Amino acid sequence: MTIGILGGGQLGYMLALAGYPLGLHFRFFDPSPEAPVGRIASRVTAEFSDQSALEKFASGLELVTYEFENVPVAAVRFLAERVPVYPPPAALEAAQDRLREKHLFEELGIPTTEFVPVANREALETAVKNIGLPAVLKTCRLGYDGKGQWLLRTAEDVARTGNELAAASASHAPSDKQTTAQGEAPFILERYVQFTRELSVLAVRARTGETAVYPLVENHHRGGILRLSLAPAPRLDPAIQRAAEQAAHSVFDELQYVGVLAIEFFEQDGRLLANEMAPRVHNSGHWTIEGALTSQFENHLRAVMALPLGSTHAIGSSGMLNLIGELPEPADVLAIRDAHLHLYGKSPRAGRKLGHVTLRASSTEQLASRLAELPGFFHRPEFCLDAVLARPLTSRA
Ligand code: AMP
Repeated sequence: MTIGILGGGQLGYMLALAGYPLGLHFRFFDPSPEAPVGRIASRVTAEFSDQSALEKFASGLELVTYEFENVPVAAVRFLAERVPVYPPPAALEAAQDRLREKHLFEELGIPTTEFVPVANREALETAVKNIGLPAVLKTCRLGYDGKGQWLLRTAEDVARTGNELAAASASHAPSDKQTTAQGEAPFILERYVQFTRELSVLAVRARTGETAVYPLVENHHRGGILRLSLAPAPRLDPAIQRAAEQAAHSVFDELQYVGVLAIEFFEQDGRLLANEMAPRVHNSGHWTIEGALTSQFENHLRAVMALPLGSTHAIGSSGMLNLIGELPEPADVLAIRDAHLHLYGKSPRAGRKLGHVTLRASSTEQLASRLAELPGFFHRPEFCLDAVLARPLTSRA
């Protein structure tokens, strides 16, 4: 049985690695000839607008899924006429546009950050009056890992960013293939949230309707990019876990969702504010490969194949560190007990996700001491370990 995956990055790579023991085969579609999956599966290298390539890709597939949420919806709809596609294209549409995503959260009663759509420079000034400073301006589409965002702290920041808007709007003009839906603003302005921490939930719904949710994960970002995840999130209030599960179930029901769904939250004053969602397996779920009874990758495949879901129970405590731009000496990592190194087979480049390390421990105390003992490479500020180790992982927030 062959599953088609749109996008050939590390998420697709790990999906395939989880699927081979289940007897599955994979075919990838990615415009880049450098996509890391090239070394483990067959691949169609073409643009998402190339319908004959999509046709060829779809031939003989059991179903199609995706590992990348900026796949053009038109390509997914074209495929959905030929072969089942999960998660449903409506989920992709909602996640591709921050404004739609925010409206979805609002409709479902999921608390989210305060926001105002921004069409142009004048609208930015009005929006800043409504929202106040500091605020974050974001492109509605095609932003990821902190790209397409401006942090506005002062009136000067607002004036300078206003000047940049015209140029940025031009690159999101209606002629663009991946433009914002007709009539919608290309930016949103959000209130800057003074959060206690960032959390994410990974949940999965199968074609059978069965659902399962992983424990919340605590995430640390630098420059908008995830650097460190702790799972289960330390000092977790069960009410917060319940709120996250409820949010995931509301999205599942609304979209008749199938597959893994990630929702990222800010925790503030003991409550959750949804920041964004991803209709796919997620970087903050990499710990599940060694740290949960069933990984997010295997559960995504079980879900789309209408198989029973596996347990999402966490095995002890895990810390996941992203390797970005540069790699440590593999032997230094592998010398650590219960450390697991994953390299994605990409050539090093600044800002590129090259791999990750998961450290597993039997308790949060043991995880803290394992993290503290990591080699010097991991004690640079970008790995965010100092902030985590400065506070006991076990005491209540
Ligand atoms: P995003 O692309 O929306 O996930 O943003 C990337 C990162 O920027 C988040 O993980 C936060 O660390 C930060 N960020 C985004 N939006 C806000 C906000 N409204 N207030 C505070 N920090 C934010």
